[in-house]
Order: sequence, then structure tokens, then C-alpha cells
Amino acid sequence: MDYQQLLRDSMETARRAPRRGRPADYIPALAEADPESFGMALATVEGEVFGAGDWEQPFSIQSVSKLFTLALALAEGGDDLWHRVGREPSGNPFNSLVQLETEQGIPRNPFINAGALVVTDRLLELTGDAAGAVREFLRAESGNAAISTDDSVAASEARHGHRNAALAHFIASYGNLRNPVDSVLAHYYAHCAIAASCRDLALVGRFLARHGLRADGSRLLTRSVAKRINAVLLTCGTYDAAGDFAFRVGLPGKSGVGGGVLAVLPGRGAVCVWSPGLDAAGNSVLGVAALDALTTATGWSVF
Ligand code: GLN
Repeated sequence: MDYQQLLRDSMETARRAPRRGRPADYIPALAEADPESFGMALATVEGEVFGAGDWEQPFSIQSVSKLFTLALALAEGGDDLWHRVGREPSGNPFNSLVQLETEQGIPRNPFINAGALVVTDRLLELTGDAAGAVREFLRAESGNAAISTDDSVAASEARHGHRNAALAHFIASYGNLRNPVDSVLAHYYAHCAIAASCRDLALVGRFLARHGLRADGSRLLTRSVAKRINAVLLTCGTYDAAGDFAFRVGLPGKSGVGGGVLAVLPGRGAVCVWSPGLDAAGNSVLGVAALDALTTATGWSVF
């Protein structure tokens, strides 16, 4: 199959979408993104990588980082994490506070902000440097040593992060954070503000396509844990639009408000698409449309 052509065709189909969405503006540094930017990359489990459009341009990975914090926290610390965070879809926006009180400070899943703060806290507990652990992992899996945090994005998010600060303090009030709230928030912002390209993230995402094996062939996760992360990605990775994403795309996937979406093709590879215009749920409009076109054309859904 001509993967390059497949990506170009998927992007072409997506461009016919009637709307483009708008870049996130609640983090001022992200509002400056060009909504016309659009790139897509596919990396195979064998190590080949194909791309189209702006596939080599770094963007703010934002909540795509939550996939890596989860994988690293489970790899380092095992199943104990599941006592502190659930694995049910929330049916609420990614930054919602409402369920936390009725559920006693145990966030619904690791991919909403509340859950990701707990996972970041766990990774900080295990490594002493949660954001550094994510950066190192991305560099190693992509082979791109230049991947780093964009400090201006992290600072912009911290300055306007009242909601995340509220979530973190609320979780702490239930005793579900082990580190000081300010450190957890600083690491959370620093891993969300990592800049990486579609090329980089597609290469990184292969560890889930390879059932837990890293790029160098070593094992990060057992097959069972990799399978479970894929399950949580499918059911929770795109927030309150996870049902629609499963319906249209049918792959485990994680989105971020920078406009990136990373999807796993189990046994085959990983695809990353980026375009900053977002829908109401905070998912890239062109990104989801391009993945929809790709899986519709190839039949590569998990169903
Ligand atoms: N850093 C962003 C936030 O906390 C991530 C949100 C997202 O990408 N959905 O709001």
C-alpha cells in the first residue's frame, strides 16, 4: 500500500469538512496557532515513517502527553495507580470539576485533567521528575533529541490555570496527591507544553502498537497493560466525544487542545495528525476527519 498517498488522500477528504473549528484560546499562547496548519504521519511497527503536509512541524502536544504519563506511571509503579484513578468515561468536558466531589477525589479516568493530575503526581513520586521522564521517553522513542518543553506555553498555561489549580487543590483535599500541589501543577504544565511533531509522536506511539515494546526492543509494558491502555484510550481518550471518535475512527486515540491526535493501529503502527482548529469537545476538527477518512478507506479500525 502507498502510505504516503493514503495520508494525502485522507487529508484531502478532511479538508472538505464544512467547518474548521477554532484554536484553543483559554491558553493564550495556543490561540496564536494557525488554523490552516495541517499535518499527518504514519509510523509502522517495522520502523518506517511516512508523512504529508506539516508533519514535521512541532506543535504543543498538550493532553496527548497524558498517554505517556499513564504508560510511564504504570510501567514504573504498577497497578496501584488504579486505586487512585478510575477508568470509566466521564461524559463531561476534559476540565470539569463536577464529578470530583461526589466521587471523593478519585477522578473518573486518567485522561481528563483531574485524572492526569493524579497520574502526574504518581509519576513524580516514582521518578522525581515527571515532565523530564516524559521528555526522555519521547526523545528515545522518536530518535529526536531536540524534543523539549516550550516554556512560554507552560508559563501561559500556569498564569491562566485557575481551573487546573482548583482541580489539584480539590483532589489534595481528599488526600489523593502525595506531592505539593504547586509541584504537581508545574510538572503537569511542563509535560503538556512539550513541543513535538506528527512524525515524532507517530514514532513514539508504536510502543502501544507493539503491545508494550519500546523502539529499542526492550519491554516497557506487559502485553496485558498495553492492551488495557488501548482500551482506556478508546473509551476515554477524546473526553466526552469518545463515543463519536469510536464511531467515526474506531481506534484507540488521544487528543490534545494543541490540535494533535495520536491514534494506535494495534500490530500495525501509529498515526498522528495535527491541525489546531478544535470542536466543542476540544478535539481537532480536521484531525478527527482525517482519521475518519483513513480508517474508512482502509478498514483499519479495531472493530
Ligand atoms: N494543558 C491543557 C489543560 O490542562 C490540556 C487540555 C487538553 O489538551 N485537553 O487544560
